Amino acid sequence: MDGTLKDNDLSHVVNADKAHVWHHLVQHKPFETNDPRIIIEGKGMRVWDQNGKEYIDAVSGAVWTVNVGYGRERIANAVHANLMKMCYFANAAGNVPGALYAEKLIDKMPGMSRVYFTNSGSEANEKAFKMIRQIAHKKYGGKKHKILYRDRDYHGSTLAAMSAGGQDERNMQYGPFAPGFVRVPHCMEYRKDELGLGHLSGRDFGIAAANQIEDVILKEGPDTVGALCLEPVTAGGGVITPPEGYWERVQEICKQYDILLHIDEVVCGIGRTGTHWFGYQHYGIKPDFVTMAKGVASGYAAIACMVTTEEIFDLFKADASDKLDHFRDISTFGGCTAGPAAALENMAIIEEEGLLENCTAMGERMMGNLQALMEKHEVIGDVRGKGLFLGCELVKDRDTKEPVDEADITAIVGDCGAQGVIIGSANRSVPGRNNVIAFSPALIATADDIDAITNAVDNALTKVFG
Ligand code: PMP
Repeated sequence: MDGTLKDNDLSHVVNADKAHVWHHLVQHKPFETNDPRIIIEGKGMRVWDQNGKEYIDAVSGAVWTVNVGYGRERIANAVHANLMKMCYFANAAGNVPGALYAEKLIDKMPGMSRVYFTNSGSEANEKAFKMIRQIAHKKYGGKKHKILYRDRDYHGSTLAAMSAGGQDERNMQYGPFAPGFVRVPHCMEYRKDELGLGHLSGRDFGIAAANQIEDVILKEGPDTVGALCLEPVTAGGGVITPPEGYWERVQEICKQYDILLHIDEVVCGIGRTGTHWFGYQHYGIKPDFVTMAKGVASGYAAIACMVTTEEIFDLFKADASDKLDHFRDISTFGGCTAGPAAALENMAIIEEEGLLENCTAMGERMMGNLQALMEKHEVIGDVRGKGLFLGCELVKDRDTKEPVDEADITAIVGDCGAQGVIIGSANRSVPGRNNVIAFSPALIATADDIDAITNAVDNALTKVFG
């Protein structure tokens, strides 16, 4: 840490935070006796807190965001230059970095064509939902308006996004929700008994899991279902990789019933899963909508994108004389130039430094390390993930798969923190069942970083579970 803040400035910051800041997702009672953690500085994979303690950040800003790591001067310089030249103008007009970023992004997404700028993952998803609803009105007299979402997936914190939320703990006490959102079952092989598919495995399981989506479509009536919204690899629901054959069958089902496919890449997008820019590109999926946020500018600016095809775009200009026919939506901060300016540099860094490849290689190393931990620690029931996006599901008993207590997860996360490694947890699907420890280090991670992270996890597991 460079010491730009003096000790008394720091205690002022801590007191101001305690007095006035309402932290996300956090129970504040403990702050009456303990100070909140304030992150003062970041460089590469590392961050420092108000006490000067150094951490390896194994979750890229706690919520899988800072894909290119902290302290990137070229992003800051590009943002500065754009802010001085032209900071903001509503996106009814264009701007220079927005046009250039849209062009670059579409170049990475064959089949896609149009970028709608906005400022959070939730909002990007809301844009897609609104388009889907408007298409239902344009083409089907409003009938084909239902949006299917999957158990354990998450699409955001706004009320319509929560209506498409498959994690019950997150939704508790916030209803009633928006109508027209219908849940389909998850596709998690580790918990296939919950789906009544315990007798199947591999591709047979994947196809049967996808067929459960078809069952819901038939029950609801295919002429009422407009879209299916899925994460390519479920993130907060417990890092759930899709089974073999699943996506192929999902795509067939969408085609058969004329259902639009909306892929939520808010976490998986921009390299997180390795090799490809997007998670869906591993599975040969042809989406109609793709939403992305976190890694787009690695947190250097707030930017999210809703990307769609020229076919969808055409539907909204079908009759230029009809004033109600276009997409009647605005995102005020979708017109900030800081976002696309940062996103352009972020993408250039990933390309120039070969970070998609590094993500694959380091992801394989981390997967290997975690599998070795599974041999050693009975409490690890399953290890899952793709690229630098991994999770371990912790269970009391490998046969019954009963989840460990939430207090144990808190203890592991806390012990890793004490060792100087910030890890995360996931799975708010069933209230109180937060039993997955999760990892999403920056795509710049080295072998030493990965080994340091998994060593800390090894120590923490030994300490908590023996
Ligand atoms: N979709 C997914 C898959 C997410 O994980 C998140 C955020 N965790 C969102 C959407 C919502 O993004 P935001 O918090 O930027 O609104």
